[in-house]
Amino acid sequence: MSPSAAARELVFRARDVRKVYTSGAVRIEALKGIDLDVHSGEFIVLLGASGSGKSTLLNILGGLDIPSSGELRWRDHDLARADERELTRFRREHVGFVFQFYNLIGSLTARENVALVTDLADDPLRPEDALAMVGLSDRLDHFPAQLSGGEQQRVAIARAVAKRPDVLLCDEPTGALDYPTGKLVLEVIQKINQELGTTALVITHNAAIGGMADRVLRLADGRLVADEQN
Ligand code: ADP
Ligand code: MG
Repeated sequence: MSPSAAARELVFRARDVRKVYTSGAVRIEALKGIDLDVHSGEFIVLLGASGSGKSTLLNILGGLDIPSSGELRWRDHDLARADERELTRFRREHVGFVFQFYNLIGSLTARENVALVTDLADDPLRPEDALAMVGLSDRLDHFPAQLSGGEQQRVAIARAVAKRPDVLLCDEPTGALDYPTGKLVLEVIQKINQELGTTALVITHNAAIGGMADRVLRLADGRLVADEQN
């Protein structure tokens, strides 16, 4: 059992976060008033149907986008009112992203793909150590085309965690993988959460995976409709 989240430090605080997209005459309310507290070290799974606003919420938490209205803080940073420069800095210093498609550079080895990020970070893990954390010590010099989908995703996770982010945001990291491989990838994220203390939010379509998390959030039609501790 992990320690009670209530005993941990508040990292994200969202109040009545809304996001409206307008394209032409069409107005889409992607988020309709999200209230959410996230504590340091939590491992949260975010479930919900396609179009329910999961990616929008994750992108806003990660400083890839800003709310249309509402309050959003990361510790003492006001993410709702940050400009592009502040958001870029927030992402660079604090956030690791993992997406469904791995976005590895095909002409670079696993080690070199991770080193691209660690070369720019202040106090990074060694690429070899980051790859060891995801179980790929024996694949350091493989190119992406020589790796399975699950292995490529684990390289992408090593790349995201090598700069020691405070928070790891994963948008359907298992979306292109079969169930056993997806579960293995989730176990890697769980291990990073436990061993490095990285706060993790993971979007998945697979409700069975929810059992691995400390906490499960459910979104429906832009609203948070369930928030359960495991
Ligand atoms: P999910 O990740 O749960 O599938 P999204 O957050 O991607 O949902 O999308 C929520 C809603 O917002 C959807 O109706 C989607 O079409 C819309 N949406 C998302 N991003 C944009 C955008 N950049 N421009 C316009 N509409 C968008
Ligand atoms: Mg999405």
